[in-house]
Amino acid sequence: MRSVRVAVVGAGVVGFSTAVCISEALPVCSVTVLAERFSPDITSDVAAGILLAAEYPDIPLERQRRWFKDSFDHLLAVAQSAHAPEAGVMLSSGWQVFREVPSDQKPFWSDFVIGFRQMTKRELERFPEHKFGLACTTVKCECSSYLPWLEKRFREAGGRVQQRKVDSLQELSGSFDLIVNCSGLGSRTLVGDTMVHPIRGQVLKVEAPWLQHFVRDGDGTTYIYPGIHSVTVGGTRQEGDWRLQLDEGDGKSILQRCSRLEPSLSRAKVLGQRVGLRPGRRNPRVERELLEVQGRQVPVIHNYGHGGWGVSLAWGTAVDALRLVRECLQETRLQAKL
Ligand code: FAD
Repeated sequence: MRSVRVAVVGAGVVGFSTAVCISEALPVCSVTVLAERFSPDITSDVAAGILLAAEYPDIPLERQRRWFKDSFDHLLAVAQSAHAPEAGVMLSSGWQVFREVPSDQKPFWSDFVIGFRQMTKRELERFPEHKFGLACTTVKCECSSYLPWLEKRFREAGGRVQQRKVDSLQELSGSFDLIVNCSGLGSRTLVGDTMVHPIRGQVLKVEAPWLQHFVRDGDGTTYIYPGIHSVTVGGTRQEGDWRLQLDEGDGKSILQRCSRLEPSLSRAKVLGQRVGLRPGRRNPRVERELLEVQGRQVPVIHNYGHGGWGVSLAWGTAVDALRLVRECLQETRLQAKL
């Protein structure tokens, strides 16, 4: 019987990954996803969805490696299954190229992607402004397909979905026994976390079916990611910028920078442009706390602040959040026995 009522706030890639993990692993929980906005109108939909990652400064590397590995293995299995086209998950091979030889030539995620290696001299010839490069096959997860697919999987596991803005976690405490906060940038107001801030990103979708390899400039501001229906070219990383409207200058600069990396892009047809606000934070917050409401304690598990790598880490942090939910349930049961 599903006797523990769990609220997951947020319907992005982090919220739905967490909701699926909990509802599939813990039949005792009845899980409801509550969110103000859903796909295709959220940040997750704007992500190119390539699985790479940057290192967060204060999280033990072992934990970050686990987050990446769990996400990669999960999405690789989807990419290799019959679900791949519906879920929008595919393998993607390509290069990350650097103008100067970087100090870290073997990023922490390199053990988990497929065929990681340094680029050969011959491969680098097509990037005359770059001195060094890394090559690998990774996964690309397109959230405009992946989120509906996850939602379907969640509903099949008995999950429920409600469109609703949550003004405070306290307001949920009467209807739910446990709250999981996956509200991304929304956590700034929802839980008053001023460390969360927007990092604005603009991308273009172009038609260029002849492009089959991804190319990412070392610093990550310029990239070309071929996908299932179009190629995503980007981007911008504007810290503290809340503007959701398109910036014409950004669009031009993206096309110029990308065409320097891949000259044939000047022939590509622009299909559309989008802007998203990444939930920036020095480190993602994946931890538990107790909320005091009218003398009662309600367990809250936070899972937000993934910045520019929420697609790459969503499943891994969801598995971590599930572990924290289990801990809460065990403690509550122990307390009940005392
Ligand atoms: P969101 O997708 O923003 O979802 C938040 C959810 O919380 C929404 O449903 C919202 O309505 C809900 N919510 C918030 N506040 C409330 C409230 N008070 N009440 C109710 N609901 C609330 N990542 C990668 O790994 N790889 C990439 O290649 C990549 N490329 C990117 C390119 C761009 C241009 C951008 C902008 C981002 C990119 N990212 C990438 C980052 C990625 O998009 C984010 O890290 C990820 O989408 C964050 O997911 P989320 O679920 O935390 O947040």
